[in-house]
Amino acid sequence: MYRAEEHIDNPHGIEDHSRDDKDFRKKWTQEEVAIDPATGMLNYIANRKGDWVTSAAYVENELRAAAALGMTPEGLRFLGNALHTLEDFYSHSNFTELLLLKLGHLQVYPWAHRKVQAPSPRYPLVTGKFGSNDIQVSLAYVLNENLTATKEYVPGQRTASTEILLILLKDIPSEYLDQKQVRRLEVLLGFKEEFVKNHPLMGRMIDELSKLMSKLPNAILSAQARKHATNVTKSQEEFLSNPSFLHPTHSQLSKDHDDHPLHLLAAALAMEVVREIGGLIAGVWTGKGTVETVVREALKYFVHPEDIQNAATDGRSWVFEWARQWARTNPAKLQLLERGAIINRQFTEAKQAEARIRAQGEAYGAPEALLAKVRGTLQGIEGLA
Ligand SMILES: [Zn+2]
Repeated sequence: MYRAEEHIDNPHGIEDHSRDDKDFRKKWTQEEVAIDPATGMLNYIANRKGDWVTSAAYVENELRAAAALGMTPEGLRFLGNALHTLEDFYSHSNFTELLLLKLGHLQVYPWAHRKVQAPSPRYPLVTGKFGSNDIQVSLAYVLNENLTATKEYVPGQRTASTEILLILLKDIPSEYLDQKQVRRLEVLLGFKEEFVKNHPLMGRMIDELSKLMSKLPNAILSAQARKHATNVTKSQEEFLSNPSFLHPTHSQLSKDHDDHPLHLLAAALAMEVVREIGGLIAGVWTGKGTVETVVREALKYFVHPEDIQNAATDGRSWVFEWARQWARTNPAKLQLLERGAIINRQFTEAKQAEARIRAQGEAYGAPEALLAKVRGTLQGIEGLA
C-alpha cells in the first residue's frame, strides 16, 4: 500500500481512492501542500497545526510503537518504518540543494522558483510529487526488469514467471480472454510434468504457450509505459514553466539512484541520522533512555537548512561539515547541479527511458496480436486433450 507520508512525497495531485480501499488516502488539499510560514517547508512534511497528515506525525507514531514493543520483530519493523521516512527526507527533498546554497554554492539550482519571506528569506523546502504517472512508470520499469530477468523455460518445470503469468492471465477481462480457458490451462499445467513424457506434441505446445505468455505482460506494460512516459515529461515541464508552482515531480528531485550527483551526500546524511536514532531506540530498549528523547531527536531533523545553527548546541550542525566535505571533494558533481545542467540531464534521461520503452514495445509486439496467438495455441491444446 503506497502512502505519500511514509516517503515524504508531495501529495499534490493525488486523487481520492479510499473507495477502492479504505487505507488509501483522500484527495490532496491546497492547505497541506502550502508553505508553512514558520519554517518555509511545505505543510505535509512537519507542520502539525492542521488536520492534514504529516510525515513528522507518522515518524513519531512509528517510533513510539517501536519503543513500546521492545526489540521484537514487530518493534524492529516499526523502527524500520520510522528510519525509512527519515532517510527519504534527504533523498526525496531539495534539502541537500538548500544546504549547499546556505554554504555559499549559489550556482546550485534550488528546485523552487522564488524565495519566501518567513521567517527569514529562503527557498521553500519541498519534496517531489509522486503522482500516478511517476508511480506507474516506476512500477512498469521494475516489473519489466523482473519479468525479463526470469530464467529460460525448462521443459517439465513450472517457473516462477509462469506462476506470475498465470496470475496475470487471470486479470485479463473476459471480453478479451475466456477465463474458462485459463482455468483449464492451469489444470493442464499441474499434470504437465508427468504428461509431457508420454505426449511430446502437447509438451511442445505448452512450451510455445509459455513463451507467448512470457511476452504478454511485457507487451501490455510497454504499451502502458509509453503513454505514461510522455505524461511524466509533461509534469516536469509543468513545474519548470510556471514560476508560481511549488511542486516538482519525484523524478526531478529524487536522489534515490546513484546516478544523481547528490546521491552519496543524501545517503551519507541519512545513514548518520539512522545511526543516531537507531542507537537511541536501542538505549530505550535496554532501559537507558526515554522515548520522548528519541522522538525529539528524530523530529529535529525535519528542518530547513536555514534554521540549523552553526553551533555545537544545535545537534545538527554536523550536516554543514558533511556538505562542506562533499563539496570540496566533488567539484565536478557540484557543477552538475546548476539549473541548465541538471534539467538537461533529466531531459536526456527521460528521452533515453522513452526510447528504451519504445524498443521494448517493438520487441514484444502489440498486446492484441500476442493475445490472438495465445487464444490460438490454447485452442490447439484443447484439441489435443
Ligand atoms: Zn520511501
